[in-house]
Amino acid sequence: MTTVRLVKPSELDGDVLVIGTVPGPRKGSAVFSPGKANIAPAAVKKINEALAASGASGKVGELVSFLGAAAGLRYTTVHAIGLGATEMNTRERYDALRDGAGVALRASAGAKKVVFAAPICSAEAVLAASVGAQLGAYQFNAYKSSAPKKGPAKAVALVVPDPRDPQSRAALNSSNTVADNVCFARDLINTPAADLHPDDLAQTVAARATELGLDVEILDEEQLVEGGYGGIVGVGQGAADPPRLARIAYRPKGAKKHVALIGKGITYDTGGYDMKPAMSMGPMKGDMSGAAAVAATICAAAELGLKINVTAYLCIAENMVSGTATRPADVLTMYNGKTVEVNNTDAEGRLVMADGLARSAEDNPDVVFDVATLTGAMVVALGDQTAGYFANDDELAADLDTAAKQAGEPFWRMPLLEHLRPSLDSTVADLSNIGGRMGGSISAALFLREFIPNGVKWAHLDIAGPALNGNAPYGVVGKGGAGFAVRTLLRYLDGAAQS
Ligand SMILES: [Zn+2]
Repeated sequence: MTTVRLVKPSELDGDVLVIGTVPGPRKGSAVFSPGKANIAPAAVKKINEALAASGASGKVGELVSFLGAAAGLRYTTVHAIGLGATEMNTRERYDALRDGAGVALRASAGAKKVVFAAPICSAEAVLAASVGAQLGAYQFNAYKSSAPKKGPAKAVALVVPDPRDPQSRAALNSSNTVADNVCFARDLINTPAADLHPDDLAQTVAARATELGLDVEILDEEQLVEGGYGGIVGVGQGAADPPRLARIAYRPKGAKKHVALIGKGITYDTGGYDMKPAMSMGPMKGDMSGAAAVAATICAAAELGLKINVTAYLCIAENMVSGTATRPADVLTMYNGKTVEVNNTDAEGRLVMADGLARSAEDNPDVVFDVATLTGAMVVALGDQTAGYFANDDELAADLDTAAKQAGEPFWRMPLLEHLRPSLDSTVADLSNIGGRMGGSISAALFLREFIPNGVKWAHLDIAGPALNGNAPYGVVGKGGAGFAVRTLLRYLDGAAQS
């Protein structure tokens, strides 16, 4: 991984320079915002000339690159990231720094040492830039037969006013833990399903969690049958590699609150007998992104030493077709005793999640989050960069919104519309696993709600859009697994631990 260090304003040695730009006095122009970096006035003047020649405007999200020589500097390349008209130490500025660092570091592949000299004047800015740089630099090269010529930039030097400032150092440490765990989730998501069967996913996560001192329990297919986990068993019974339920518990001393995290871990989703068309099946190795997110979150929470009890459940199965697979119209009995008619075998996520949600109630958590690449309908509604969420409590929704904004992950609250609930009625069982086509992400959420005990605060995070990026890279997200929701959940846990 790319390592990040804090350096003094005078330590500017490196092969690539990243600077910040803001809109200039002339419309459509940009000027260099040198921050605290000791860049000689003559060089500042030359950089501004190079910016003018490049047509930079300084708007947020902009990346303009030119040769160091063009500005009379020793760097091979200078990347200028737009900070827009944002003020120092505002949420908008942190977002611009984080996403700009992501874009600049992706463009810096192959570099030895990137000097990041966009203005950083607070611990929060250190966190934003460092997380952005590490996530932007991330590459998944496990299946390349030789190391790519332009691997992730080796090191980043973040120019700060005082590298010894304790708050900045603490922020740097946090950023390393956060980025490391998001990349752990990305690695899991990017691994092909042939190399990440249900037991592989459970064991890989268990190994990491155990190393951190967390309690791990994995139920195998026999224990799942015995325990009455009809949803997980029913979805996994068509695959050669049987399903698992992993439970991970983090119990720090002095913690008062308890949050349960339930993750959808479909290691591959063919759709089952209601098979997906070829176009939709390709990305389905990423259908375990929810499980990867909750695993990464609980591991990071432990590494960060957050004072809050967390229990994570990874509901893991492979949704395949075979002589033993669940058929359309089969009836499953879920962990809480409710019966479900499987009217669409591709609506399998809610079946495994229902068991995990019902089981988590036995831990008596104060708050339950579930994270799932649940519905294509959510991608239709919000596009591929934003997650939709549902909550049965307004205070929880407000806290989640705050956490998402701090983390810089786009979430949008969706309504639990009661008039769609009858679409889940079944003539033969307590529930059908699929509602109507219209409002499909809402009926999916209403289905999950059936497995939340009364009085428990709950939010359902449908991350089907942003979990795995098949389009052009943006911000801190490259191609492939995004590790989405980890940073938001960590912010939420941090806030809940302190309140
Ligand atoms: Zn499915």
